[in-house]
Amino acid sequence: MSKKKAPFSKKQIENLLQTQQTPFYIYDENAMVKNAQKLKNAFAWADFKEYFAVKANANPFILKILKNQNFGADCSSLAELVLSENCEILGENIIFTSNDTPANEFEKAKELGAIINFDDISHIKYYEKNVGKLPELVCLRYNPGDLKSGNNIIGNPLEAKYGFTKKQLLQGYEYCKKAGVKRFGLHAMVASNELDYKYFVETAKILFEETAEISKKLGISFEFVNLGGGIGIPYRPQEKEVDLQKLGGEIKELYEKIIVKNELAPLKVFMECGRMITGPFGYLVSKVLHEKNTYKKFIGLDACMANLMRPALYGAYHHISVLGKEDEKCEITADVTGSLCENNDKFAIDRKLPKVEIGDIFVIHDAGAHGYSMGFNYNGKLRCGEFLMRENGDFLKIRRSETIEDLFVTIDIKKLKEF
Ligand SMILES: *Cc1c(COP(=O)(O)O)cnc(C)c1O
Repeated sequence: MSKKKAPFSKKQIENLLQTQQTPFYIYDENAMVKNAQKLKNAFAWADFKEYFAVKANANPFILKILKNQNFGADCSSLAELVLSENCEILGENIIFTSNDTPANEFEKAKELGAIINFDDISHIKYYEKNVGKLPELVCLRYNPGDLKSGNNIIGNPLEAKYGFTKKQLLQGYEYCKKAGVKRFGLHAMVASNELDYKYFVETAKILFEETAEISKKLGISFEFVNLGGGIGIPYRPQEKEVDLQKLGGEIKELYEKIIVKNELAPLKVFMECGRMITGPFGYLVSKVLHEKNTYKKFIGLDACMANLMRPALYGAYHHISVLGKEDEKCEITADVTGSLCENNDKFAIDRKLPKVEIGDIFVIHDAGAHGYSMGFNYNGKLRCGEFLMRENGDFLKIRRSETIEDLFVTIDIKKLKEF
């Protein structure tokens, strides 16, 4: 069984703790950059671009690191568009993949020159009515329905709220062509946290075949396909990461067989992964506050599900190591909890751990995606700070922790006093 080990030592964290309080996140910059390069290498044969799904990790310092890797941004809300703008990720370096979209968000996407990826056929006319003429480049989101089986997090495509049906797709492109759209893209995202690379090869096949069919029927040519995100990461120590070389290689074969053969090349290949880009490189660091022994053993941390919601939301596994005790035998079985008044505020249930003492430093692994960004303030819990571990081992604070005052900024205190 491969072991998950934090890239920092107990001593390094103890140094940090002289001026900082737990909990906080740490991101490993160097490992993140190397991984980004690995993804690009797997698609070196193609005109490839990754649009990082901002919702996975919305820290602007992280976005800038990824921008330096030539990544774009996949945004799905106004705030994510503004965030990209602040990081100077602009124009067609943004793809706006939203759903149930308000007009002002389409407007902002238009203002930034982002690629608009429509989620529904009705949104095309909604855009024309509320925003104006369709952009020169339009992408449509395909839901392949029963052509494709779903997976756990995103569910069965037939039940999913996303995308156009096959029939609507053809109608959508036909309408856009008549409305003067000149450039076209096709998108699908039908999996989340999927570890079987074949799944994405199959998505590529569906999209390649669809572009071939639609090009022929409508006499339009496609500029790109966007395979979506959803590449999984090995949260459990026994799981294996997706073999990106195989993934890229098999998609290349399909590209030659379907796109090149049908004289549809060049066709750019996009992805919009979030999880696999930052997930494995983020760590939630927290201290043990209490040990409680009742019908079960509970280890209580100073972090809670407001800092990392995935275990409570999806029953997701996150590996936990205890700094300085990585090589000790796991002798106890305990639930690892936070302090929310919610019984599902648990980072782990019946987890085998080394003997724990109050004050031990717990590291919760693979928290770099859908971690901090899913945080919330229930029970008045404060969002914690974020640090970037640089290549030389320095820790750069990239977000301060919230203060109690932050919780009151939306309240008019003067009005409250007079009330
Ligand atoms: C969430 C999401 C992504 C990123 O998914 P990951 O599982 O983090 O790779 C990409 N595109 C869309 C449209 C999404 O909703």
